[in-house]
This record gives sequence, structure tokens and C-alpha cells, in this order.
Amino acid sequence: MVLRIRPGGHKGELLGHLDFRQRSPLLEVKGNIELKRPLAKAASRLPLSGRRLKRGPDQMEEALEPEKKRTRGLGTRVTTTHPRTAALSSVPQTQGQTAVPRAPRKSAPRCSMAVAPVLKTQKPGPVVPAQKPGTTAAPPMVGGKKPKRPAWDLKGQLCDLNAELKCYRERKQVLDQENQQLQDQLREAQQQASALGAERRTLEEELTRVRAQAEQGQRELGNLSARVLELEERLGTQEGLVQELQQEQLRLQEERRGLAAQLGEQERRLQTSEASLSDSQAEVASLRQEAAAREAVLAEREDRLHGLEMERRRLHNQLQELKGNIRVFCRVRPVLAGESTPSPGFLQFPSGPCGPSDPPTRLSLSRSDERRGTLSGAPAAPTRHDFSFDRVFPPGSGQDEVFEEISMLVQSALDGYPVCIFAYGQTGSGKTFTMEGGPGGDPRLEGLIPRALRHLFSVAQELRGQGWTYSFVASYVEIYNETVRDLLATGARKGQGGECEIRRAGPGSEELTVTNARYVPVSCEREVEALLHLARQNRAVARTAQNERSSRSHSVFQLQISGEHAGRGLQCAAPLSLVDLAGSERLDPGLALGPGERERLRETQAINSSLSTLGLVIMALSNKESHVPYRNSKLTYLLQNSLGGSAKMLMFVNISPLEENVSESLNSLRFASKITGVLLHSCCCGSNRPP
Ligand code: ADP
Ligand code: MG
Repeated sequence: MVLRIRPGGHKGELLGHLDFRQRSPLLEVKGNIELKRPLAKAASRLPLSGRRLKRGPDQMEEALEPEKKRTRGLGTRVTTTHPRTAALSSVPQTQGQTAVPRAPRKSAPRCSMAVAPVLKTQKPGPVVPAQKPGTTAAPPMVGGKKPKRPAWDLKGQLCDLNAELKCYRERKQVLDQENQQLQDQLREAQQQASALGAERRTLEEELTRVRAQAEQGQRELGNLSARVLELEERLGTQEGLVQELQQEQLRLQEERRGLAAQLGEQERRLQTSEASLSDSQAEVASLRQEAAAREAVLAEREDRLHGLEMERRRLHNQLQELKGNIRVFCRVRPVLAGESTPSPGFLQFPSGPCGPSDPPTRLSLSRSDERRGTLSGAPAAPTRHDFSFDRVFPPGSGQDEVFEEISMLVQSALDGYPVCIFAYGQTGSGKTFTMEGGPGGDPRLEGLIPRALRHLFSVAQELRGQGWTYSFVASYVEIYNETVRDLLATGARKGQGGECEIRRAGPGSEELTVTNARYVPVSCEREVEALLHLARQNRAVARTAQNERSSRSHSVFQLQISGEHAGRGLQCAAPLSLVDLAGSERLDPGLALGPGERERLRETQAINSSLSTLGLVIMALSNKESHVPYRNSKLTYLLQNSLGGSAKMLMFVNISPLEENVSESLNSLRFASKITGVLLHSCCCGSNRPP
């Protein structure tokens, strides 16, 4: 340990510090801490005696002063630069430290330097002549600058040596004292150093513990810092979340206010609606009561209506029966362009009992027989043939007028009664025109078949309101030479014949069906028109293949009508048959019979046979005979369900207005008359009338 006093320092200020060769961390800490203390306190750690340690800076100077005083006491001023340093440098050195050189102790000249001035000031002495070489030596001089005593001045030299010796002795005494003091101080310092070492170890241990604690604290601090960072981060997140939630809360509050306003509005509306609802409910209740009452009335009316409908059907049927289940209408076609106009009075239509407003029912045909003559040679008076039918249609009668009369029969078919309508007459008399209609698709010229079907569909629709549902199935066949051909055939079978047979629909069934013939369900007029068009095409194909034969075949259009009243469990079914018969004309017996004519004769015989059978069947039915010869012809066999019983039959007798056809016309009229059993009379008109 070195205690240094900074040269040039402030008087009384002791700058010092403990200088350890190996500075311990504790001392570093303590130094760092204690450097900030007043220096005076630092000085207290010097290894000084207790008495000295209690002295201040001034006292320190006093402690150092004796040397100065001693030197002054010699009567001279010491010129050495650092007397204090010299004094303190005598303090014993610690191990490893460089000792300060003790110049005054080793160097005699120093004492001579201090003594020399004393000698100078004591007594100047007389001027001595220069010493002789080799007799006297010059006085010792520090620095070598003092003049030497002459060699001969031995006394002077001895005196100097005595003074110097004395000086050294004093000096030694002082130094011994100082040495003793310093040894005391050294012991004191060693004791203090050991105490400080113990304190140092304690402090080092404390430092180690504190360091450990500091490291632990540092770690905890690190952990806490990380935790703080994490928490700060979470706090930031939470703060952001809170901010968002606050914004959301604001938005929701705003929305809530809006909804509350809406709710208020809705509640007001609801109250209004509830008020109107209760009104409506009361109204509904009264309406329900009213509806129930009306339903009861309606049910009653339906019952009444149904009763009336059934009554209507009954009365209608009764009326038809009164009119006759077998009726004959006569229709005379107009004279066509290019035909010769008949003589006036050839055909007459006498008025009924109620005058011209009555629909005509009578027909008079005048025939002049050229073969008959009077005795005078004058031509015989024409013979007038009067006929009476259920209805007579003069040439000007329209299709609608004709249909009006038969619409009642169509109604009977819907009511469940079989209906059969024939068109009878010679070829060209207007049968096809009556049944199917005129050429060109003119609606005014539409025949009975399209009109009847339209009427059926319309009435069926009306009856739907009363709970009746109807279905219709159509077929259209042709009977030629006692063979049946399907006029609705399509594809490869088109125009072909001979493959169809009339059979019962099933064992024990009364219903008849034509094998290989198409039965087409129809529900509207357009579908019927399509069927009629197909039938015309089939006839045209047959005409090309087998010569004209349509006039020599029977065309049978049949519609199976089925009605059901599901509510009352009622059903009705009946066929409506519309038959365009083959031409009723006969072959001229005077014609020569070639191969074609013989064929024609066979055709005609077949036609006549079937027409005769038809007449016989109708007459048998009219006379209510037990046997009806249905099986005698394919035509009657096919139509047997449309004839007889409660069936309604109507025959149109079509008549040509031409005089040249009078014979065939008479035949047709007679045939019809036979059916009705009423032939008014035939009589001769004019002057030559027989009695
Ligand atoms: P059918 O079938 O008896 O052989 P059509 O019906 O073919 O005779 O009639 C022969 C011709 O007479 C046809 O040109 C037809 O248009 C015409 N005709 C028949 N009846 C009438 C009528 N009532 N009004 C106008 N033309 C008719
Ligand atoms: Mg015809």
C-alpha cells in the first residue's frame, strides 16, 4: 500500500486513495462508492495512529512541520523541493512496492549542504591564502560547487567534520524516532489491513450473495420484462378489442335505437292489424255462417237440380218416345248447277194443319207415266204421290235447320239412350252431304256428325257442373259387300279391308266391337275433324285401288258415350251411331251384263239385301216382334245395340229433286214409308184420274 500526497495540491487537502496491486471487486465497488465521499473521510482509512487519524489537514501539516522547523532551526532554509515527501517516504513499504530512495540518509553531501550555510552564516572567517597543493583538502560540498577549504586549514576541516558528525548524530536520532513511529504505524496499519481484509472477505461474500441475488433478480427482471412485454402486447390486443367492442357497442346501440323505433312502429301496426283482424274474424264468422247457410241452400238446390235433371231426362225420353223411337225425316237436296230444273209441281211440300208456319211434314211427288195414255191419245195425267214423315226438309233447308231437329236425339244419347241416325237414298241424293257436310270446310255446310259431336261436348261440359263426367270413344268403319273395313286405319293398314270382324267385347257381354279397328278417345271437335279427315283419305285410297265404291258401301261412325255421376254413384252409357248408307238405286235390268256389270250386280244385290234387312229389322222393332233379324246383315248385326229397346232411331230419306230420278225417289220414299208404316196415299191427279 502506498500513501501518496499529490504534489502541488491544495494546502491541507489530502488526496489519496487505496492502491491495491490486485483491486478486488469489492474495493472497486467501495472505491466507486467512496470516491464520492469527502476526501477527509478517505484519509481516515490511512494506517495512522488513532491520534493522527483524528487530526485534520492543518494538523497534518503541523505533524509534518517539525522537519521544517528543524531545518529552520539550523538557521537556513532547506531548498529541497518536497520536504514532506521526504518525511513520509520513510514510511515502511508494503510488499512489492518500490521504495522511495532515501537520499539524505545515504548521501553525506546532503547534510553538508544543510550545514554549509550554517557555517557560512556563523562566522565569515578571514581570507585565507590559497592552500598549498597537497597540504589541505577542500570541505565536502554537495553538488560540488562549494569552495574547498585550503589544505592547510586542517582545523577548519576538522571543525567541519565535527559539525557534520554532530549533524549526522542528530539526524540519526531523529530518524530513529521516526523509525520507531513508523514501525508503530506499520503495526497499526497491518492490524488495520487484516481487519480490512476480513471486512473485504465479508464484503466479497456479501457481494457474491448480492451478485447472485442480482443475477436472480436480473433473471426475474428478464422474466418479468418478457411477461410485462407479453402483458403489454395482450393489453394492446385487449385495448384494440375493447376499442372494437366499444365501436360495436355504439353501433349496436344505434341499431337498437333503430330497432326500438321499428318495434314501436310494428307494435302500432300490430295493434291496428289486431283490431282489423278481430273485425275480420267477426266478419269471417258471419261469412261462415252465411256460407254454411248457402251451402245448405246449394245442397238443397243441387238435390232439386238433380231431381229436375232426372225428371228432364225422363220427360225428354217420354217426349222422344211420343215423337216415336223410330222416326223418318225426308230431305230433298237442291237442284245443282248444270242440272235440269224439274217441272213446276213435280215436288210439293203441303203445309201442316197450322198453316205455312208449321214445319212441313208432307211431301207430294207428281209423276207423269208416259206409258199410260188416254183413249183419245192425250197424255195421261201425272200421278201424285203423297208422303208424310216426321219432318220434311225442302231443298232450301240448311244444315243447321236439320241439326236442330235431331239435337234432341243427341241429348237422349247423353242421357244414356242408344241413338242411331241413318241416311238413306240413291247415290247423289245428298246422304254424305247430310251426314258429314259439304265440300270446302264451310262451317255452314257442316254435317250432322261434326255438329252432333260439338253438341255432345258442349252439353257434357254443362253437365259437368251437375257432377256428371263424360268420356267419348270414336270408331269409323265401312261395310262393303258384307266386309268390314276400318276407316281410321293408319300406316300400312291404310285403305286395306277385309281384316275386321264384328265380335262381342267379351263372353256374355252385349257390347260389340270390331276387331282390328281403331277406337279413338276424343274430347274435342278438332280431334273429331282429324278423324273425319283420315276417313276421307282412307276412302280416297280405296277408291283408287278398287274403283269408286264409297256410294256402294255403308259408312258407320260410332261414338261410345260413357257418363258418370260420382257423387251419386250413377252411370250411363250408350252408343251414338251415324250411318251413311250405300246408294239404294237398283241396276237397270235392261242393261247388258258384262263382267263389270256382273260385279256391280253382286254389289247391288249385297246392298239391297242389307238395306232390306235393315228395313225388316226396323219394322220388326216397330211392330215389337219377338225376332229381330239382326244377323241377316253385317250392318244390322253391328248396329243391333243401337236399335231396339229404348233406342232412338232416325232415318233421313234423301231425295233427288230431279224428275229423271223420280223412280228412285219413289222407291226411297216407299222404303221409308214401309218403315213408318204410314203411306198416306197415291192418287192420280187431273182429269184422267181413275175412280
Ligand atoms: P250421296 O252421298 O247421296 O251420293 P252427295 O252427298 O254426295 O250424295 O251429294 C251429291 C252432290 O249434291 C254433292 O255435290 C253435294 O254437294 C250436293 N248436295 C247434296 N245435298 C245438298 C244440299 N242439301 N245442299 C247443297 N248441295 C247438296
Ligand atoms: Mg255419299
